[in-house]
Amino acid sequence: ERVLSGEASSNDVSFEQSLRPQSLSQYIGQDKVKSNLSVFIEAAKMRKEALDHVLLYGPPGLGKTTLAVVIANEMGVNVRTTSGPAIERPGDLAAILTSLEPGEVLFIDEIHRLPRAIEEVLYPAMEDYCLDIVIGKGPEARSVRLDLPPFTLVGATTRAGAVSAPLRDRFGVLCRLEYYNDEQLTDIVVRTADILDTEIEWNGAIEIAKRSRGTPRIANRLLRRVRDFAQVRADGVITLPLADEALGLLQVDKLGLDHIDHKLLRGIIDKFRGGPVGIDTIAASIGEESTTIEDVYEPYLLQIGFLQRTPRGRMVTHRVYEHFNLEVPNP
Ligand code: ATP
Repeated sequence: ERVLSGEASSNDVSFEQSLRPQSLSQYIGQDKVKSNLSVFIEAAKMRKEALDHVLLYGPPGLGKTTLAVVIANEMGVNVRTTSGPAIERPGDLAAILTSLEPGEVLFIDEIHRLPRAIEEVLYPAMEDYCLDIVIGKGPEARSVRLDLPPFTLVGATTRAGAVSAPLRDRFGVLCRLEYYNDEQLTDIVVRTADILDTEIEWNGAIEIAKRSRGTPRIANRLLRRVRDFAQVRADGVITLPLADEALGLLQVDKLGLDHIDHKLLRGIIDKFRGGPVGIDTIAASIGEESTTIEDVYEPYLLQIGFLQRTPRGRMVTHRVYEHFNLEVPNP
């Protein structure tokens, strides 16, 4: 398993559960999203209405599930959690919707993976809080409208572009989660260390933060591994030298890149003179799927300015040569 993956592994699940911030004030970073949401939540509470439907989008591990729980807590209601691939038939969704209590939050993770027929059940539910159910078959069939309690749908997706336009248009609030900066991630590492009862020096926390690819899930995971190292090889305290050594052993470099990133970047430099080169050609040359490169490896490299997308393909930037201590080629 890749230690730097933004996706949750089976190992993360119960660990993460204990770390989830419960309120907007505990939720670190994403200031724009938080300040907008706090106004909408306050207004909905004043009007004693359900909060408008919210679509959260952004790379994995940035806190979409956490934010859905926080929204429900701030509204003082329960949250029901499901995911796009888990809802197979329209009846599955109808069963969930009809069992909601007034004002509750329904959280659908990976909402872009809902089949179209199920999406269509959602449209009247989101717009008018009702369900259109067809009873009977053939010429006898008739449609019956069923009222639902008012509720808030919180949808999450890593691929906003894959959410169909009619579904996207039915969300009143769209929130894009951004990668976290080093200060915010340092605060998250310190908060998690506190919950885990682990002593950490500020510089040690900064070092973990810097190598966490802007992603709280990765920061928490690295902290957990470094904590093991501190316990076994030192006196339990996470200092800068200890974090540096442990992360080195985990093969996470100073910028949070690992052997997969190195293989990708070095592949473009060594085989294609730094690019531009088409994504399919890169994929074939390093034995990966193009979609995996696009969805998993590339976003962070684009974010830190190591890769560029051009009309003729991907190019590495000067910063990559500097990172690998290579001479920057003449144009
Ligand atoms: P996925 O899309 O893969 O489900 P996600 O975006 O829903 O990921 P979460 O599961 O919400 O991510 O968050 C991952 C972990 O990071 C959780 O353990 C959570 O405690 C922590 N975390 C996320 N955002 C924050 C934050 N803003 N402040 C503190 N901790 C956070």
